[in-house]
Amino acid sequence: MAFSYDILVAGSGWAGATVARKLADEGLRVLVLERRNHIGGNCYDEYNEHGILIHRYGPHIFHTKFPHVWEFASQFTSWRLYRHEVRSYVDGTFFPIPVNLNTMEMLYRRNFTREEMISFISDRVIHYEEPKNSHEVIVSQMGQDIYDKFFAGYTLKQWGVTADELEPEVCSRIPIRYTRDNRYFSDPYQGIPKEGYGRLFRRMLDHERISLLLKTDYSAVKDEIKAGWTVYTGGIDTFFNRVYGPLPYRGMRFVFETHEQESYQGWGVVNYPNDFGYTRITEYKRLTGQERSHTTISFEYPSNNGEPCYPMPTKSAMALYGRYCKLAGKMDRTSFLGRLGSYRYINMDQAILQGLDLAEELLELI
Ligand code: UDP
Repeated sequence: MAFSYDILVAGSGWAGATVARKLADEGLRVLVLERRNHIGGNCYDEYNEHGILIHRYGPHIFHTKFPHVWEFASQFTSWRLYRHEVRSYVDGTFFPIPVNLNTMEMLYRRNFTREEMISFISDRVIHYEEPKNSHEVIVSQMGQDIYDKFFAGYTLKQWGVTADELEPEVCSRIPIRYTRDNRYFSDPYQGIPKEGYGRLFRRMLDHERISLLLKTDYSAVKDEIKAGWTVYTGGIDTFFNRVYGPLPYRGMRFVFETHEQESYQGWGVVNYPNDFGYTRITEYKRLTGQERSHTTISFEYPSNNGEPCYPMPTKSAMALYGRYCKLAGKMDRTSFLGRLGSYRYINMDQAILQGLDLAEELLELI
């Protein structure tokens, strides 16, 4: 049977775009369908009416420990080697987060050596053989006081449920450090695409063997397109017409403001665990390094509406996902990828990894 395309990729975020590019480089003909009017998924960035480069779906800082992932992404951009720092606003003070020696000294108003911090924390942690949820993860690593100040409120706001109801992986993303390292991420490779994510994705998909259709929903055109393999990166429940009911996703309402001042806050991101309705404020110029006399910030209000940003890492959602997974296992010549397709709270580099791994598998199969 002759196919019009070797590969049909639904979705042009990291996972989809990676598979598409890798396979096109290997000589396959690829069709990419994108439901929205732009590529790049939730990494999408654009210049607003004030000339400031903003991330439309919230702050995206690229970081990875995998040299081959960094190398892959670096084919399409050079980097601003940005060092991301976050502060958490608690009781009127901006504390470095993840918690480290500097945080401890500000919090407990005394000096700490590394050994003193180890002993202070170990006196306060609650031991769990195997933490079963995100609350147990944090109190077993940092104790109840730090949990109450930095995690309980933020997590409730972010997810609409308490950390007790969330899988351990959610809060395990945030370590505790017995050093003075104020960086948010520990990965050796960190940066922001110098000319933005939009440019990066355009370069990635600009290939003689890749065709791209924007504003095209997979379900609307799937019967008209013949392809040897389908890679689907949208919501797996949507693919199966939600036969078992909708999977829950957490969305986000972003409120952007531009201020006639050079700087709004001292850091790229400030978290607000206990005050206000929003979880965090991002100042984009600090991420991108853009120089302007004015500045744009965004407030993030978690919600169950809007573009899905996160799968819900609860037991019941995972059980429902398991049922969809069984259906996926029965599908012929179809793979599910990315945050929505694999219903996993993965980072950008992990989406690339998924894409690279699948591309390799498909080269054996097709
Ligand atoms: N978190 C928290 N307080 C913080 C930062 C993070 O409680 O100051 C928890 C919260 O549950 C959050 C999770 O850790 O959803 C992961 O945080 P991360 O910054 O990785 O979230 P993302 O940037 O992916 O939204």
